[in-house]
This record gives sequence, structure tokens and C-alpha cells, in this order.
Amino acid sequence: MRCPFCQNEDTQVRDSRPTEDGASIRRRRQCPACGARFTTFERAQLRELFVVKRSGRRAPFERDKLARSVAIALRKRQVEPDRVEQLISGIVRRLEASGESEIPSATIGNLIMAALKRLDPVAYVRYASVYKDFQDAKDFQEFLDGQMSFDDDQDELDFVDKEPQ
Ligand SMILES: [Zn+2]
Repeated sequence: MRCPFCQNEDTQVRDSRPTEDGASIRRRRQCPACGARFTTFERAQLRELFVVKRSGRRAPFERDKLARSVAIALRKRQVEPDRVEQLISGIVRRLEASGESEIPSATIGNLIMAALKRLDPVAYVRYASVYKDFQDAKDFQEFLDGQMSFDDDQDELDFVDKEPQ
């Protein structure tokens, strides 16, 4: 596998073991050229999924893209990589199990929000502020006020095909 830091063609596996939930294999890799260390996960893909964007455009679902937006929301938060991996796997499994091969991007956004809400409140608010496109402090305040009265068992957004406001 190519090094994501220096693009060297080869990296070495230093350690390989199953994740806590046994659903994937976690590998610690090191680049012999620049010395960078990073982690990769190997997992089964159950079905081919497509994302339908708000514009109506259809694109192959990319797990890495989902992982990146989650990683941005979680930046500098102290959350175990395995828990993040489980969150992402959980979302992907639900998408795969839904029986639909075309998933509206809003459905994925809602699933990420619901999952982050349980994992890390700061990451949740960060993600929501981007996803819901807060324009100013007032939007932010309205969102937080809404959260206060939001009952915990209502956060299962499941497959509600809801467009973000
Ligand atoms: Zn490298």
C-alpha cells in the first residue's frame, strides 16, 4: 500500500490484529521512506452502494469519504480509533442492510449526526454546524435550544429521508 504522506509505493505492516468487535483487521503500517506510521482497516463489503446527492447526481458510496468527515468533526477530541472505526462500520452496515442501493446523502448525514451525538457531543455540534450549514450565531443558538428539548430516544433518525435545513 502506498504511503499517504510521501506517496512511496510500499509500506510495511508492523502489527496486525482484529478490532474489538471482530468485524475488521487493524494494521499498523510504517513507511520505510519517510518513517510515517498509519493504520489501515480491512473489512468485508457486503454490497455496492451509491449516494444520491441533493442535486440528483449519483456517485459511488465511499467509506473513506464518510470516515474523513467524521475525522474532521472529531479533530483533537480524545476518542479511541477503534470506537471511531466501530461508528463508521455501524453506519455502513446499516446502509448495506437497508436493502437500498441508492442512498440519499441526507440519510447518511443524519446517520452520522445520530452516531456522533452518542460518541462525542463536541464532534456532534461541529458536524451539525457544517452539515446544517449554520450561517451565523443565531442558527447555532437555535440548534442548541432545539437540542435541549430533544428527547434522547428521538435521535434514532433511521432512514428518514429528510433534507437538511
Ligand atoms: Zn512515506
